[in-house]
Amino acid sequence: MPVEPPIETPASLADAFAVLAGSTVEAPVTPIAGGTDIMVRITGEIGEPPGRMIDLSRLAELRGITVDGAAIVIGAATTYTEIRRSDACREHLPALVEAAATIGAAQIQNRGTLGGNIANASPAGDTLPVLLALDAVIVVGGPRGERTIPAADFWVAYRRTALAPDELILRVRIPVAGGREARFRKIGTRRAQAISKVVLALAWRESGGARAATWSDVRLALGSVADRPIRASATEAVLEGAMPTPETADAAAESLAAEIHPIDDVRSTADYRRVVAARALHRMIRDAGGW
Ligand SMILES: Cc1cc2nc3c(=O)[nH]c(=O)nc-3n(C[C@H](O)[C@H](O)[C@H](O)COP(=O)(O)OP(=O)(O)OC[C@H]3O[C@@H](n4cnc5c(N)ncnc54)[C@H](O)[C@@H]3O)c2cc1C
Repeated sequence: MPVEPPIETPASLADAFAVLAGSTVEAPVTPIAGGTDIMVRITGEIGEPPGRMIDLSRLAELRGITVDGAAIVIGAATTYTEIRRSDACREHLPALVEAAATIGAAQIQNRGTLGGNIANASPAGDTLPVLLALDAVIVVGGPRGERTIPAADFWVAYRRTALAPDELILRVRIPVAGGREARFRKIGTRRAQAISKVVLALAWRESGGARAATWSDVRLALGSVADRPIRASATEAVLEGAMPTPETADAAAESLAAEIHPIDDVRSTADYRRVVAARALHRMIRDAGGW
């Protein structure tokens, strides 16, 4: 029988930082929030089990959703259910709400947190393309204070993040000013309890009115097509300054199929991922263009 690792339950963020001050690469103190990823590793059957752990689930400082000027700020230990039920998220971040609604099923959404998805750094993490497409900023902190990391710089390699071993994700700031549109699409084996074969988020600003809508600030982000969540910048360039016409959709889909280099694995093939990512993008542009 595997031995349960020691777990500490700090009463405040300051207490948590004091515990984390002793966390190093060689002897990490592993945070646990909802536990939906970490508990799968606890037996040690799939890789190294965590040693010493620190429970974040009772830290009020890491919870809650607030509107701060032109951004929505979501505490790292906020659950998917809380995101789905948040009026602010439903109004300003429907793509994130949609992503939250596709994660696992009700049990996982009640426990799993946004911070856990970010720190777990799976290439298939469903909220991660949304955070990339919306230019989210991840606020992290530890014994040396706070710093901010743009989502674009956060996932640095396969399952590696820019977090130091003694840092926590504290909250995520997502800018919402300027009427940015965003869409989310996940392709999996089923509608629930399915890891993504491909997951996409597309964001843009629109000017020029319904008949001559032109896109700017275009962001296209994908998961499950590389070793980490990525932006497809060549395809973004195809869409920047364009109108959502059939010709634009064809060009963007062709560009995306050439730009991504997915792999074959147990969930899908590289070819399927490439074709489906391109078709999903085509459909998003078609829906936005209303043709
Ligand atoms: C049945 C099942 C279905 C699932 N379906 C999906 C799915 O459809 N889509 C999807 O994307 N994921 C899915 N997951 C994975 C998981 O639910 C999510 O990644 C979830 O967001 C993890 O959050 P958590 O709070 O449970 O993280 P935990 O398990 O508590 O932690 C995950 C990792 O993040 C670290 N961590 C957590 N919080 C912080 C923090 N604040 N600062 C620093 N590090 C932190 C932990 O140390 C650990 O390494 C599924 C998991 C299960 C078991």
